[in-house]
Amino acid sequence: MHRLYENDDIAVFWDSDKCFHAKRCVCNSPATFDPKRKPWIDVTRADTKEIWQAIQQCPSGALSCVYRHDIDVVMDDEKCRSVAYDGDKEIGECDYEITESGWNIYHTGVSPEYRGKEIAKRLVFKVFEAADRSHAKIRATCSYAAKMLN
Ligand code: SF4
Repeated sequence: MHRLYENDDIAVFWDSDKCFHAKRCVCNSPATFDPKRKPWIDVTRADTKEIWQAIQQCPSGALSCVYRHDIDVVMDDEKCRSVAYDGDKEIGECDYEITESGWNIYHTGVSPEYRGKEIAKRLVFKVFEAADRSHAKIRATCSYAAKMLN
């Protein structure tokens, strides 16, 4: 299961397949990580520095985070893609097709001037999460997305 959580400053990625529940995150930011709550991660309940530091202590790699840089990433279900915006300007997308065997991500791209901000990772993870929520299997012929699935 893939989940993406965001506050004004950061985007937090969680991959349940990697999480072995050492609960170090819970000890380091109990307001953010609460296994008894649904969703169990809420990145609005502590300051960003505390959350960032807690994520660095995750021993499994299940948690990671990047700065948002005021870039919004949203789903565009009608066009089968996630899209990144800087204000009104579209600056990247992750495209997928829905097939009988599940969703296939076939392209991810970000405008060259926005590279280095990990926007592609957010775009791909957004689609992973949407597929999970739709109970669809996910695969990728896009090489960037395929690396994130492995
Ligand atoms: S610290 Fe990492 S491995 Fe441990 S419970 Fe939190 S997310 Fe899972």
